[in-house]
Amino acid sequence: NENMESAKQSIRDVLDFPKKGIVFKDITTLLKEHKHLATVADHIYDYYKDKGITKVVGLESRGFILGGLFAYKLDAGFVPIRKPGKLPYGVFSEKYTLEYGFDEIQIHKDALNNEDIVLLHDDLLATGGTAAASIDLINNFNVQETYVNFLIELDFLNGRDRLPQNHEIYSLFHF
Ligand code: 5GP
Repeated sequence: NENMESAKQSIRDVLDFPKKGIVFKDITTLLKEHKHLATVADHIYDYYKDKGITKVVGLESRGFILGGLFAYKLDAGFVPIRKPGKLPYGVFSEKYTLEYGFDEIQIHKDALNNEDIVLLHDDLLATGGTAAASIDLINNFNVQETYVNFLIELDFLNGRDRLPQNHEIYSLFHF
C-alpha cells in the first residue's frame, strides 16, 4: 500500500554513524510526520490486537517510542528494558557480546508474571544480540507467550537466526 511505502521511504540512511562504514537507519524522519507515525502504529497494532497482549516490553531507547503507543492501544502495560544503572529497583541482568566487547541490559525483577502475554518491541533487528538477550531476560518470568516485533529488520545480517525459534517474529519493514 501507498502509505506504507511512503512511511518506509521516510526512513533516512545516515552514512558512517555511529562509526565509519556503518549505514544507520534513522527513524526520526518517520516519527516526526504524523501520517507516517499513524500508518506504522496502526498497522502493527492491528497485527497484535487479538493476541491478548498484557505487557509490551520496550528496549531502551528507541523501543520506548512505538512500544509506549502499542501498550496504550493494546490496553496493555509497558515495561522498559534498560542499560545498567538506570532501573532503580532490583533487576535481572543479561550480558551479550558485540563485535568488540560486550553490553548488558536489565529488567526489573517484578516487571512480569507467569500470566503475562508479552510483546517485545524494538525499532530495529540487526545482528540479533540485543533481542536474544531481551528474550533471555523475559525467560526469567515463565510468561505465557512472547511475541517479538521490530519496525525494521536488516535481513542481510540474519539476526533472526540468532533468536530462539519458539517465538513469532514480525518486522514491518525489511531492508
Ligand atoms: P543488534 O543487537 O540486533 O545487532 O542491534 C540492534 C540494536 O541496535 C537495537 O536496539 C537498535 O536500536 C540498534 N541499532 C543497530 N543498528 C541500527 C540502525 O541502523 N538504526 C537504528 N535506528 N538502530 C540501530
